[in-house]
Amino acid sequence: MAPTVAAEAAAAKGQLQHTGKAVGLAAHDASGHLAPLTITRRSTGDDDVAIKILFCGMCHSDLHSIKNEWGNAMYPMVPGHEIAGVVTEVGKNVTRFNPGDRVGVGCMVNSCQSCDGCAEGFENTCGGGIIFTYNSVDRDGTVTYGGYSSSVTVHERFVVRFPDGMPLDRGAPLLCAGITVYSPMKYHGLNKPGKHVGVLGLGGLGHVAVKLAKAAFGMKVTVISTSPGKKQEAMDRLGADAFVVSKDAEEMKAAASTMDGIINTVSANIPLAPFMSLLKPNGKMIMVGLPTKALEIPPFDLIMGNKTLAGSCIGGMRDTQEMLDVAAKHGVTADIELVDADYVNTAMERLAKADVRYRFVIDIGNTLKNADQ
Ligand SMILES: [Zn+2]
Ligand SMILES: [Zn+2]
Repeated sequence: MAPTVAAEAAAAKGQLQHTGKAVGLAAHDASGHLAPLTITRRSTGDDDVAIKILFCGMCHSDLHSIKNEWGNAMYPMVPGHEIAGVVTEVGKNVTRFNPGDRVGVGCMVNSCQSCDGCAEGFENTCGGGIIFTYNSVDRDGTVTYGGYSSSVTVHERFVVRFPDGMPLDRGAPLLCAGITVYSPMKYHGLNKPGKHVGVLGLGGLGHVAVKLAKAAFGMKVTVISTSPGKKQEAMDRLGADAFVVSKDAEEMKAAASTMDGIINTVSANIPLAPFMSLLKPNGKMIMVGLPTKALEIPPFDLIMGNKTLAGSCIGGMRDTQEMLDVAAKHGVTADIELVDADYVNTAMERLAKADVRYRFVIDIGNTLKNADQ
């Protein structure tokens, strides 16, 4: 299987071990059970920023990954790509950060840094060169470990600054959930007052999309969900203008041809045609959720009305910093449930049942203990 090959390739390079000790919460097999493990981090290189991790959000991708649902798991795996913390040391070439700075790391920790995408600030489109924050083989041959850990060392390019006033715990989830919805809204013109955006699915991604669309972009926002029970919260607390229950034919019909775009955050396998019908002519649906099966869309539902179906993968580093700055300016943060490190397995079980409003964040700094304690 691919994961074994990748792990062996890494091992063959003979550089699997770093010297700096850290503690992580690691999965050892597809059961996904997480337990403390002593790991190593590289010493701070010339371009590196060493970070003491204080908080890490729990993304649904972490759950998919530790259970090997995407078939590419390398164990032991330390998940986590919504990292917030404080700089402890910087390399001699680092210009943007100093010890004590409040910083974050999202889904990527490296890329080729030389392709057209990287040159233009879209490291997220790097052709084959993206090194993800965990479960990736880094350029030095080591396997990356994520933010469910006490520290991390990352190339300066992949570190962002938390604006003053943005809390690290509620800001951490923006590093995946925030940029994942911000970038497609920006590049598909769904960031202007007067436009109407539908947010399909109200979870970790969806609730941030609603907040950004309302508070930062001043748009009309409709939440589309299977759960009528989320209506009051979506409208009263998150500020959505309307709510459509997707199983209600009358409500779907009433909302037909009204939306300029839809941010589709759903990771379940659902037919897309009913939702394409909500788009105005020339409307766009942007996929940011990751269903496991091939998409099903009758060509007729795409072609009539000149509709666009697009995909979007996180965002570049420049846009990630911009997103944090915009979110801070407009007071946008994630709604979180802060949990102790020893609650992580229970939190994963609840995450699997979507029993969280809307992001678990692990209080790493205060509760992650050494592996031998
Ligand atoms: Zn994520
Ligand atoms: Zn590149």
